[in-house]
Amino acid sequence: MSQPTAPATPGSTISTEVVIVGAGPCGLFQVFELGLLGISAHVVDSLAHPGGQCAELYPDKPIYDIPALPVCGAQELVDRLLQQIKPFKAPLHLGQEVVEFARREDGRFHLRTSTGTTFDAGAVVIAAGLGSFQPRRIGLEGAEVFEGAAIQYRIKNAAELAGKRLVIFGGGDSALDWTLELVSRAASLDLVHRRAEFRAAPASVAKMREQVAAGRMRCFEALPHALDVRDGVLRGVKIKSPDGAVHALEAEQLLVFFGLHPKLGPIAEWGLALEKRALHVDPEKFQTSVPGVFAVGDINAYPGKKKLILSGFHEAALAAFAIQHHLYPQKKQFLQYTTTSPVMHQRLGVPD
Ligand SMILES: Cc1cc2nc3c(=O)[nH]c(=O)nc-3n(C[C@H](O)[C@H](O)[C@H](O)COP(=O)(O)OP(=O)(O)OC[C@H]3O[C@@H](n4cnc5c(N)ncnc54)[C@H](O)[C@@H]3O)c2cc1C
Repeated sequence: MSQPTAPATPGSTISTEVVIVGAGPCGLFQVFELGLLGISAHVVDSLAHPGGQCAELYPDKPIYDIPALPVCGAQELVDRLLQQIKPFKAPLHLGQEVVEFARREDGRFHLRTSTGTTFDAGAVVIAAGLGSFQPRRIGLEGAEVFEGAAIQYRIKNAAELAGKRLVIFGGGDSALDWTLELVSRAASLDLVHRRAEFRAAPASVAKMREQVAAGRMRCFEALPHALDVRDGVLRGVKIKSPDGAVHALEAEQLLVFFGLHPKLGPIAEWGLALEKRALHVDPEKFQTSVPGVFAVGDINAYPGKKKLILSGFHEAALAAFAIQHHLYPQKKQFLQYTTTSPVMHQRLGVPD
């Protein structure tokens, strides 16, 4: 069985045994279980980093129900999983959402990501959790027209913001980090947060307050209220204070950091049987309604399903055997122990 190919240049298709959609804990452990069976995989995630909910929603919180680890930080769990799958060298394609999926006539699968990476895969594992993490939007009338340009949720090129009038929304680390990064380069900068207290690191908040005291920027406790658009161009934004007063701020660029939320997104349109916004699977193979497409972790549904990490780990182990059978139906399957199997030691890089 072949090793994973290196990440392809945009435009060329990557041919692989398996594509795993989602680099949360279950997607990462799927790499391990496939790797033990000598099957290679590519992993895709819309986030810029692996770890799914653990890394995105609660990295510093302790988890107490991972077998044999009485307590483990959520980010620590992700780091340990990454360490565990290292021998299998599975390429991670981060910061790209799988937006296109199709079963080909020959039974293989075509997938395409939002950045144009395409795959030709023998099997697919959907480990998409609660869905792909998307930025929370500003929610003002007419905002859609400007999203990705005058209204940004992710900064792609900070140099383009130099010399512009900026309004930043949010009170977390992203909002504060970008405020401090851009304050000296912008023509003007206003920071707007719905509360007086900030979630960001206290040191960043203190630095921001120093900038306000020095008259280099302004900070408002308010909510976005309406866009100011003239001749089709964004000129500013109106904000509403807790006392109901509306203020107009001049702006060429709104930078919105309201955090991310998971959205099932394109997966719901891939023709796979759904059950309450989860993928229906059988609890033997964790195969979806399409042969060759498997689902593990929070994304799947079957009788007795519990959305727990250890359940996803078990699902990944059984799915790996089912994937091996799907890809190589003639191959005899037998259970080997990592303790004693020379072939598994070889795959894990363990000296015998
Ligand atoms: C606050 C909190 C505390 C928790 N505590 C515990 C606990 O103590 N014990 C426990 O067992 N569980 C706990 N959980 C639940 C646990 O985090 C989940 O069960 C686990 O993260 C599920 O893993 P997953 O890999 O299935 O999905 P996720 O962690 O949700 O990862 C899925 C990944 O798929 C990506 N994705 C989705 N769609 C696409 C797409 N189309 N293209 C590309 N990428 C995509 C997403 O960006 C995401 O990174 C907790 C959850 C929360 C929110």
